[in-house]
Amino acid sequence: MSQPCVNIGMVGHVDHGKTTLVSALSGVWTDTHSEEMKRGISIRLGYADTTFRKCPTCPEPQNLSVAKTCEHCGTKTEEIRTVSFVDSPGHETLMATMLSGAAIMDGAILVIAANEECPQPQTKEHLMALNIIGIKNIVIVQNKIDLVPKEKVIEHYHQIKEFVKGTVAEDAPVVPISAQQNINIDVLISAMNEMIPTPVQKLDKPAHLLIARSFDINKPGTPIDKISGGVIGGTLTAGTLKAGDDIEIRPGRKVESENAVRWEPIFTNINLIIAGKEKVDEATPGGLLALGTGLDPSITKSDSLTGQVAGVPGTLPPTRDSFTLELKLLERVVGVSDEESIGKIKTSEPLMLNVGTATTVGIVTSAREDVAEAKLKRPVCAEVGSMVAISRRIGSRWRLIGVGVIKD
Ligand code: GDP
Ligand code: MG
Repeated sequence: MSQPCVNIGMVGHVDHGKTTLVSALSGVWTDTHSEEMKRGISIRLGYADTTFRKCPTCPEPQNLSVAKTCEHCGTKTEEIRTVSFVDSPGHETLMATMLSGAAIMDGAILVIAANEECPQPQTKEHLMALNIIGIKNIVIVQNKIDLVPKEKVIEHYHQIKEFVKGTVAEDAPVVPISAQQNINIDVLISAMNEMIPTPVQKLDKPAHLLIARSFDINKPGTPIDKISGGVIGGTLTAGTLKAGDDIEIRPGRKVESENAVRWEPIFTNINLIIAGKEKVDEATPGGLLALGTGLDPSITKSDSLTGQVAGVPGTLPPTRDSFTLELKLLERVVGVSDEESIGKIKTSEPLMLNVGTATTVGIVTSAREDVAEAKLKRPVCAEVGSMVAISRRIGSRWRLIGVGVIKD
């Protein structure tokens, strides 16, 4: 398998079939050949890599699959490209996870089950997030067509078209499938190849990795001399990384001394890179990868570095504990039954802010119509011009209310 070169997000309402579709496309759970460590890493990353392949003799789209031999004619298939799927939770409480996943999506599949009215609340909320964050490369999947008669599928298709009118997904293809019964997966691969192209890799820039997960892969009781260093997983947005390279991680480690809190960058080196289920010597931008580091695994355990940034020492953006945002707010709250209008941002209100893969809470220190300043509870490492997703607490949970761009 070659290195993944593109991240495709799976979004949509709970139980509409996102996880089933990821496994239909990747067979990640059936992979028993990779070493335990590599397998453990990909499972914990919550992602699945798969290689799209084509049969050299059959016509499109029947020639497209993820199988090594063509199911129609038995010919050996050829690799097209390897993609990483970023699965997202459809539970309404996990919007923060969806938003930090969105930071690393090059495109998305919006999964909509055909056996329910469209739109369901998180179908709406996830599409709104794609829309406002500006993820334009979208394929809509109408899933579970095995459960409803053909006329219902057509009626549901019209509901979808009505629902996406005026959004970023207005012209997205709608592919009817059954993830569970493997129906039309070839057509879906064809649509993904057309709508979600592989982004151009910025290889000449210094390495910059958005950390999505971090963990300790050692089993309890592992003897000290057998302990593997902490592992981080994420996406390179630019540059390349090689085993042996030194890296800096920001904001890094929280240090408390004399009643003051500060964050210190962490410096370490890479001793192992896994991409596309394989150990590689050099990682390039695109899909998800895992880095084995020289860090004490207690520093990386339980996603403690999620949301941080890693890269060539001395080249990372500054660590900010406050910033000014240029605002673009939505008109209404989406994904609730009574879609109340969104009031202005007010001084001293708390906001949930997603910057890259980081989730933090900011307290508004000053606010005007289109600009707000926030002091962050947990700092972020981000460049001027970065996009920030803004959520406000409404009732018992955070609701996406708009985006901002970091001014300084
Ligand atoms: P998620 O919450 O969006 O990740 O949904 P899951 O993938 O966990 O699927 C929810 C349920 O729907 C599971 O019981 C799946 O077996 C079932 N399911 C998923 N896809 C299909 C499909 O195409 N047809 C049918 N009949 N059931 C499906
Ligand atoms: Mg799921």
